[in-house]
Amino acid sequence: MEAAVQFPVVVAVDGPAGSGKSSVSKAVAQRLGYGFLDTGAAYRALAWHAEASGVETDDDASVVACLASFGYRIGTDPGGYRVHVGETDVTDAIRDPQISSIVSRVARVPEVRTHLIELFRAIIAAEVRPGIVVEGRDITTVVAPDAPVRILLTASEEVRMSRRAAELVGHDAGTTGEQLRARDRADSKVVDFMNAADGVTVVDSTELDFEQTVDAMIAVVADSIVG
Ligand code: C5P
Repeated sequence: MEAAVQFPVVVAVDGPAGSGKSSVSKAVAQRLGYGFLDTGAAYRALAWHAEASGVETDDDASVVACLASFGYRIGTDPGGYRVHVGETDVTDAIRDPQISSIVSRVARVPEVRTHLIELFRAIIAAEVRPGIVVEGRDITTVVAPDAPVRILLTASEEVRMSRRAAELVGHDAGTTGEQLRARDRADSKVVDFMNAADGVTVVDSTELDFEQTVDAMIAVVADSIVG
């Protein structure tokens, strides 16, 4: 007997920085009429909140204490969503390179991960569209290991660096590359997003352009759901 499909259908997507996860996942969600959840935004927003509160992000206990006043909200419309901490719209502020350089410190704290994983599960459960594409580092393994669609989106390091450098016009490509590598190194100590867990399908976008990557992901979704 076939298992009944649960709603919302969760499409779990993991991958390293610069793999195109975010933009590709958003386009996949739009094509399917699904919601979209960017989980990295929550770690970034917490790093922003810690800085704004004058908290030393190297001090785990102070970061954990920050969770009590972390009024976090994020939308799931793939066509445009805002990120709020309390009444402050931090959508643009959390993309600042300064936040990228400290976010891994916040993300490695176990209590932070437990707290945010609960939050992600609540957002997923509240989705009103028929499905939701959730992207991050530990979605296929920890946040939604039972999702009917689980994808690891990768690309060679060289391609990831050059894509990210193209996004950050005006920043030095060498520095951007080194920052990206440092962040991946720090993040990989916490969760393994470079190797696919059992049952996770790898989509390698090294040789694919944007549209081809979206098509490849949609094909995995169709395969996993229809069988
Ligand atoms: O995806 P993005 O680059 O915005 O993620 C920012 C940071 O948030 C990552 O470098 C990582 O430290 C953390 N993160 C995480 N687990 C996730 C998503 C992001 O630890 N599921």
